Amino acid sequence: MSISIPLHIPARTIMTPGPVEVDPRVRHAMSHTILGQFDPAFTDLMNQTMGLLREVLQTKNHWAFPVDGTSRAGIEAMLCSLIEEDDKVLIPCFGRFGYLLKEIAERCGADVSTIECEWGKVFEPDTIMDELKKIKPKLIVMVHGDTSTGRMQPLKEIGQYCRQNDILLVVDAVATVGGTDVKTDDWFIDGLITGTQKCLSVPSGMAPLTYNNRIEKIILERKSIEQGLISDPSQVNKKKRIRSNYFDLSQLQDYWSPARLNHHTEATSMLYGLYEGLRLIVEEGLENRFKRHQLNEKALVAGIKAMGLSLFGDPQYKLPTVTCINIPEEVNGDQVRSQLLEEFGIEIASSFGPLSGKIWRIGTMGYSCQKRNILFTLSALEAILIQEGVRIYRGEALQAALSVYKKDQESESLKKNIT
Ligand SMILES: *Cc1c(COP(=O)(O)O)cnc(C)c1O
Repeated sequence: MSISIPLHIPARTIMTPGPVEVDPRVRHAMSHTILGQFDPAFTDLMNQTMGLLREVLQTKNHWAFPVDGTSRAGIEAMLCSLIEEDDKVLIPCFGRFGYLLKEIAERCGADVSTIECEWGKVFEPDTIMDELKKIKPKLIVMVHGDTSTGRMQPLKEIGQYCRQNDILLVVDAVATVGGTDVKTDDWFIDGLITGTQKCLSVPSGMAPLTYNNRIEKIILERKSIEQGLISDPSQVNKKKRIRSNYFDLSQLQDYWSPARLNHHTEATSMLYGLYEGLRLIVEEGLENRFKRHQLNEKALVAGIKAMGLSLFGDPQYKLPTVTCINIPEEVNGDQVRSQLLEEFGIEIASSFGPLSGKIWRIGTMGYSCQKRNILFTLSALEAILIQEGVRIYRGEALQAALSVYKKDQESESLKKNIT
């Protein structure tokens, strides 16, 4: 019998668009002893987590709870609970994750229409509203921040139009919640899904979501049929039945309510982590948290530009939690990434599809989004690029980033002196 070597996890600085570094307090929370899923100590934690989620998702919706699984589990739960065979669904795609939404909606049996825009751009709200007028879908599903292109789609106008025209708006806000402002209620979003491993800074494995009573109404209509409330089985409309058991929101919401339906075995350790991650966000304060993300992004961008590198995409709609950098022609992007990992233990990302090999993506998300990580990443990138023979402005990046931090400190202390 061979003896396995003990687990060894190398130290890393993770600067990708997820998974990101996790606050030690979250890791500690996850190491607590297991509770039974109906233990009052645990159900109390469930209720508190729902409350924290409402705060972080900026919503008054009653339903705000996590689905077990990665972010796409939340997307599947939302879409398969909402979409009936041949329902019309519009999906505007401005990057890779739009196509994921399309694939999931199609698998749910939807009649999907897509519109596309060039990668690196977002849609004019008018373009989307014209399409909505033409297609008259039951719902529109959209990504808020697409990490593949580093762009963020403004949603409020679209949301307002949908609300006035009885169309449901479902949003994938996996890459934005906890890092930049996402106003579920003010933007008229009916259903919203996020993930744990990005700006919430919790390990991957849960997909918090929220939905309002417009969505709940549909789910409940499908539930009465599912649960055999019609006495004549020939009247059971199979078309209406939610196709998944695991992702059936009508059953999941009964687990997250005092009914405590015994639907699945909750991932208790994950919930400890999610609770602590959300608590830390509320403790930091949403505004402070967004400011921290902005400041570190600004320092990173200043450093990248000072080196002489250029950014990819329309700057007006830049996603504050992801920075896309054009890879200089004379260098192999993957070679630079593996050098960063080998020499410095820093991980940055490449991209997908048409952008594969063309851009690097640096995430500034959650616990990874700190001054020392930014300075470390800039210095390491500069060193590797010099070694690879790329002509850059030497010694400028850190000075540019440091001066961003210095200016911020000065303006903060000025504010303190005034008040
Ligand atoms: C990262 C990301 C996802 C990822 O889903 P997982 O199932 O957690 O891997 C989905 N949507 C967007 C916009 C993302 O950035």
